This record gives sequence, structure tokens and C-alpha cells, in this order.
Amino acid sequence: MSLKIDLHCHSTISDGMLAPEDLVAYAARQGVNVLALTDHDDVGGLKVARQVADEHGITFINGVEISVTWKKRTLHIVGLKINPDNKALKSALNQVHIDRDARAREMAESLAKAGIPDAYEGAKAIAKQAIITRVHFARFLAEKGYAKDTKSVFKKYLVKGKPGYVNHQWMTLVQAVKLILDSGGIPVIAHPGRYDLGIINMLLLMHEFRSYGGVAIEVVTSSHTPPQYQQFAKLAHQFGLKSSQGSDYHGQGISFMEMGYLPPLPANCVPVWQDWPEVQVVAA
Ligand code: AMP
Ligand code: MN
Ligand code: MN
Ligand code: MN
Repeated sequence: MSLKIDLHCHSTISDGMLAPEDLVAYAARQGVNVLALTDHDDVGGLKVARQVADEHGITFINGVEISVTWKKRTLHIVGLKINPDNKALKSALNQVHIDRDARAREMAESLAKAGIPDAYEGAKAIAKQAIITRVHFARFLAEKGYAKDTKSVFKKYLVKGKPGYVNHQWMTLVQAVKLILDSGGIPVIAHPGRYDLGIINMLLLMHEFRSYGGVAIEVVTSSHTPPQYQQFAKLAHQFGLKSSQGSDYHGQGISFMEMGYLPPLPANCVPVWQDWPEVQVVAA
């Protein structure tokens, strides 16, 4: 039997639309067998997600997606199989929350100067207890009619050069990789095709990531095209990195694809789950 494996998705703990328990129930309906929840900079959804996954017979993998600044760009590093109770990880993520809040206030100040008042309060009301992200600002601005949907809000207000964009210093690549490794996890470069790096920097990133102990890159993700599956499969092979796959699901209608429809990894890839005992059990 072929397994549906999805190692990247988001809940309301970060910028997803579904609560962790609803996300897992949705994954079950979509026929997913192995699921990692990878909220941005937060591990708060993992315990309840695992419980619900157990009830549905889904093999659950702890995950997180850590924001990193590398060569003035924001990269995302997924940590799979991390221990959410690890002290260093918890304390580093807590600091990211504090920094995200300061950044959100700066974004709101900048938006206020552009004639949009109360964006911090508005975004915060949507985020509720979750970490505050640009997606919460996008939803607030779309609700207020500043653009027709969240995608247009991003284009108009929330990307580099636009009024609500604030340059933010996330943690370094080596810090993120080390935090993941030290908490027993597996570092994975998320959606490498999204960073607009150019070939030289892409090679440099792979090299650096590997030298810090990085293990895998996402090859199949909803934001890669089929030619990019091949391109990153080749790159993984070249650098002796394993391959991962995930939908990066954020919610109905706002993700590039629904869960459960990922194409398989290209044949020459070494799957990141190759030696995971819990995945062998499902396959048996
Ligand atoms: P943040 O980590 O607060 O900067 O928010 C980043 C999140 O915003 C990403 O994880 C995506 O979910 C979302 N995002 C980033 N760029 C776009 C875009 N151009 N259109 C829609 N959503 C985006
Ligand atoms: Mn996101
Ligand atoms: Mn990401
Ligand atoms: Mn993601």
C-alpha cells in the first residue's frame, strides 16, 4: 500500500485556518497516513494534534517551521521529530514570540502612517492566542476592504518595499539547525524553490546547511513546480541530503493545494523517513 505522507502544514497555533484537532481530522479525511504539524516558530499544537492523530490511526510526527535570516533573506527551516519540551528550543521560540510582537507593532505603526489605523489590534484579534504573523495582518486588511483578498493585501502592503513591511532579524541558520539537532530533531530546508536565491547562493546554502548538520530539503511541496521537483532531487543527491515532502497546507482556499494530493518523490531521492521505525510499521 502506498502511504500518504505529509510533513509540513499549519494550524491556528500559527497562521493556519484550522485548530490542530480539526486539521488532523481533515488530514484523516484526506487519507493522510503520516502527518507532521509544523507551525511557524511554535510547538504549542503538537500535544493535542498527536492525541487526535492517535484516535484516527494517523502516525504523528512532531514538527516546527523556524524563521531564519540568511544573507538578508528570510528562510524557513523545518524541524521534524523535535522534542517540544526541550528547554533550549522552548526558550528560543519564546524569544521569537516576543520579537514577533515587537515587529507587529512596528508594522502597525508603518501602516498607520499609510492611513490604516489600529492594525496591531485588528491582527491581534484575529491571531487570538497564536503568534502574530503577516497572515493575520493580511486577513485584517482584507476584512477592512483595503484589498480584495489576502493575496492582494500581501502584494500591496506586506512585502518588501510596501508600507506594512518591516525588515526583521530572525535567528541565524546555524542557530536554527543547532536548536533542532539539540532537541533530537531533523533539520529540513523548507521549500528551497521559494527563496529566489540564484544558483551560487543556492549551492552555498546547501553547503552551509550540510556543514551545520542539516539533513534534508523539501523536494515535493505545493509551492514547487514539477521541474523544481527534479531540480531539487538532483541538488539533494549532489549534497548527500535526504528529501522531504509536505503540502504546506494553511487552510481551505488559501493553500496551493489540498492535503492528500502530493505527487511522489522522484525515484532517486532518499526519503527523510527512510529509517523511521514508525513509518515502517504503517507500511507493513
Ligand atoms: P511571517 O512569518 O509573519 O512573515 O508570515 C509569513 C507567512 O505569510 C508565510 O508563512 C505564508 O503563510 C504567508 N505569505 C508569505 N508571502 C505571502 C504572499 N505573497 N501571499 C500570501 N501569503 C503569503
Ligand atoms: Mn505560513
Ligand atoms: Mn514556509
Ligand atoms: Mn509552512
